[in-house]
Amino acid sequence: MESYDVAIVGAGHNGLVCAAYLLNAGYSVLLLEKRSVPGGAATTEEAMRSEAPGFKFNLCAIDHEFIHLGPVVEELKLQKYGLEYLFCDPVVFCPHPDGKYFLAHRSVEKTCAEIERFSPRDAQKYAEFTNFWQRVIGMMIPIFNAPPKSVIDMAGNYDWAKLQDLFSVIGPPDKTLDFVRTMFSSPRDILEEWFDSEFLKAPLARLASELGAPPSQKTISVGAIMMAMRHNPGMARPRGGTGALVQALLNLVKSKGGVVLTDQSVERILIDEGRAVGVRVANGQEYRVKRGVIANIDAKRVFLQLMENSEVDAADPKLRERLERRIVNNNESILKLDLAISEPLRFEHHNHRDEYLIGSVLIADSVNQIEVAHSDPTVGKIPDSDPSLYVVVPTMLDPSMAPEGKHTVWIEFFAPYQIAGAEGTGMKGTGWTDELKNKVADRLIDKLAEYAPNVKSAIIARRVESPPELSERTGFLKGNHYHIDMTLDQMVFFRPLPELANYKTPIEGLYLTGAGTHPGGSVSGMPGRNCARVFLHTQEPFGQKLKEAGNAVKSTVGAVFNL
Ligand SMILES: Cc1cc2nc3c(=O)[nH]c(=O)nc-3n(C[C@H](O)[C@H](O)[C@H](O)COP(=O)(O)OP(=O)(O)OC[C@H]3O[C@@H](n4cnc5c(N)ncnc54)[C@H](O)[C@@H]3O)c2cc1C
Repeated sequence: MESYDVAIVGAGHNGLVCAAYLLNAGYSVLLLEKRSVPGGAATTEEAMRSEAPGFKFNLCAIDHEFIHLGPVVEELKLQKYGLEYLFCDPVVFCPHPDGKYFLAHRSVEKTCAEIERFSPRDAQKYAEFTNFWQRVIGMMIPIFNAPPKSVIDMAGNYDWAKLQDLFSVIGPPDKTLDFVRTMFSSPRDILEEWFDSEFLKAPLARLASELGAPPSQKTISVGAIMMAMRHNPGMARPRGGTGALVQALLNLVKSKGGVVLTDQSVERILIDEGRAVGVRVANGQEYRVKRGVIANIDAKRVFLQLMENSEVDAADPKLRERLERRIVNNNESILKLDLAISEPLRFEHHNHRDEYLIGSVLIADSVNQIEVAHSDPTVGKIPDSDPSLYVVVPTMLDPSMAPEGKHTVWIEFFAPYQIAGAEGTGMKGTGWTDELKNKVADRLIDKLAEYAPNVKSAIIARRVESPPELSERTGFLKGNHYHIDMTLDQMVFFRPLPELANYKTPIEGLYLTGAGTHPGGSVSGMPGRNCARVFLHTQEPFGQKLKEAGNAVKSTVGAVFNL
């Protein structure tokens, strides 16, 4: 029987980041991945090898912003392991039905100049709005990059610039209260407060709602950072696709002696006297650990699928019920459409320029359309009568991802996991069938063709993945790509539940990482890094705490005296 210090369930990017930090600290690590390809929702695959050979597709994540808010890339020296980020500029293009459009550059000034062509007032407001949310981002970075219950870690992350951001947002009592009110409000509320023009409000609502809820939902106004981040630190894609980030992490992990085994679905976490001592995979093979098991999957899957009920109950008699009933899932998932195309999309009605295709192209006609795009899935309806889309032509920025002169299109469409009235039918009982997913895909292409009419004749091949298929491939419960919803009640020290929020669990030696832990989903590596810090604290409590307290004091003193 083989034995390691740590076994990690799942080789998603967070599992790999966590492994890298543990290996750097001298621990032996085994990663067990259920798929034949590591990376989870961050892979790049030649997914249509027979119909479209040589075309590489990002099956899930494509645009990377959050990872640039943390130190993972630099600390792990991922460039040395083959990672190269290509920054997008422009970052967003959103054609509007009336002929106007929103073209956002990385530079706020250039973006304002574009907005000014249609609305001088909104252009000026956009600069102020972005400045505010960028200061909020500065204030939040130290919180993202620390375990949510570690005040020392968080405090140590505040340098002078971030302290300035913090005190510019929360200052005297009325200012602080106003900030709190903003955070309680919805994306729609704040967009109505700041702007007049629909051609601007609709794409901003679409991006804010990427958190997975309608723009009218209170307490997620913070979704405004999804646009602000595209200006600074910027939006980038690894050369070769998102999978190139995973490949760099694999290169690092393997070079440090880490072991990654694919096609190894963990079916049981082994518990002995209340302690995690190993895992068993589907073929019966067991792997023992000396220090711990770390799960890169969410708490529901860990405690409700990979453990005996009696073992969970012995650790916390209320936990199973709380996981089952307290964690919310609003039924929103993604239908993903990938196209291999013979020529780039052309936005004929909007004075086409190739630069439109560098960043994300949003089909977002109105805030109401975005509202329906997110509220319909909640009640089990497919919002395809007037679909809103997130479209990318990744080969414009990185032509290496397709045969010469050819392109790919990446389309994200929010859709229900469970279709209302179709319970128990179709794939996994969700109501989705091959026929239905293809019918919806046709509707999405029709909609895109209203703006880029050449899309239909350019298609060489297509791949449609419905929510239950996404769930089957990645393991996401109910197709939730953030593992659990990203609403305020499930963030920071509430993620996934207060008693599980610091990466530790009531089972000794069992830790959680990944999108279902703080600070949440998307490509950031932060849950992986934060979890590794907690693990290291647990192994070397005194030395680690002393080192970090020293760093925190040094950083705060440096910040205050501007050293
Ligand atoms: C269509 C789509 C588009 C997206 N677009 C973006 C984007 O543009 N930008 C962005 O930042 N984010 C995006 N996301 C979200 C982002 O991809 C995820 O939140 C993130 O990749 C999650 O990473 P993770 O490592 O935490 O978890 P995962 O990627 O879910 O990794 C978990 C791993 O565990 C494995 N696993 C599961 N069960 C077992 C088991 N029993 N045994 C062994 N292994 C197991 C899985 O196969 C997987 O490899 C998108 C997601 C989707 C679905």
